[in-house]
Amino acid sequence: MNSQIIDTIKQYSTIIIHRHVRPDPDAYGSQLGLKYILEHNYPDKRILAAGTHDYTMDFLDFPDLVEDQDFEGALVIVTDTANTERVDDQRYKTGAKLIKIDHHPNDDAYGDIVSVDTTASSASELIYELFTYGRDHEGWTMTAKAARLLYAGIIGDTGRFLFPSTTQKTFAVAGELIKYDFDRNALHNGMYEMDRKLLHLQGYMYQNFKMDENGAAHVKITKDILKEFDVTATDTSLLVGSLGNVKGMKAWVILIEEDTEIRVRLRSKGPIINTLAKEFGGGGHPLASGATAYSWQEADQVIARLAEICAAAN
Ligand code: AMP
Repeated sequence: MNSQIIDTIKQYSTIIIHRHVRPDPDAYGSQLGLKYILEHNYPDKRILAAGTHDYTMDFLDFPDLVEDQDFEGALVIVTDTANTERVDDQRYKTGAKLIKIDHHPNDDAYGDIVSVDTTASSASELIYELFTYGRDHEGWTMTAKAARLLYAGIIGDTGRFLFPSTTQKTFAVAGELIKYDFDRNALHNGMYEMDRKLLHLQGYMYQNFKMDENGAAHVKITKDILKEFDVTATDTSLLVGSLGNVKGMKAWVILIEEDTEIRVRLRSKGPIINTLAKEFGGGGHPLASGATAYSWQEADQVIARLAEICAAAN
């Protein structure tokens, strides 16, 4: 598969790389890590990173401004994005050829070349694997800038190597990446330092979550609460994992009210919850997934289903 991807990359002079909406470090890490690897090894090619910048990623990097005409005859690569609706932006369809590189369940096998490995901790780990193939067969070399991005993606998607998706290979890849010269400390601070107001909201979550006897929990963050703590719905992404620290917690859902919808963020320490996300039109990983609800009544149904799943798992 990696040989097919590299053969295809060699055939195109413009390559546009996309990732998913509501980006996280693995989205940016895999997208921009790949961009810098390709730019470095094919200086004559134009490599562009598409998608809207999200301010939560300011510490990490920025995408490029991509014009409509850039897509003419271009190779498009989408990383870390399970389904086409989540591709940022939708002009990804207007290129000449499409490659999907991802580690989520392959429910939507879009693209002319589909490279999906659900055993990989992150899309960034897959980009590193693509790099090793390029290194061994084409003489590719890595840059510190690319290594920093891929390392951030791995750290982000493994919750600093704590999630079960972390394998021996993940540690080995991270071990290789830290050989490059980038400021790991500054990167970690960028990823994990939180505004005081966000920590206050975290305190609210710890004070107000409800957990049943089977370890199923939820907390509702209404628009009023967001306003009270002066935090946006997007800011809350750093808080989603925190309920996992609660003893006895099996799986939890955080419901965040936005203007017209409620964002459903599901996490689990064991029971499979992406099936539940799919019931509500969402998706994701077995232990980290999400969906959108359109009323508090629907959100309550998610809570009830999560309770059933945890009860069945006990
Ligand atoms: P998040 O809670 O936003 O960090 O999302 C966790 C994971 O769930 C992501 O990696 C996505 O794969 C998936 N996900 C979140 N929201 C949705 C959605 N509305 N539709 C499909 N997948 C989603």
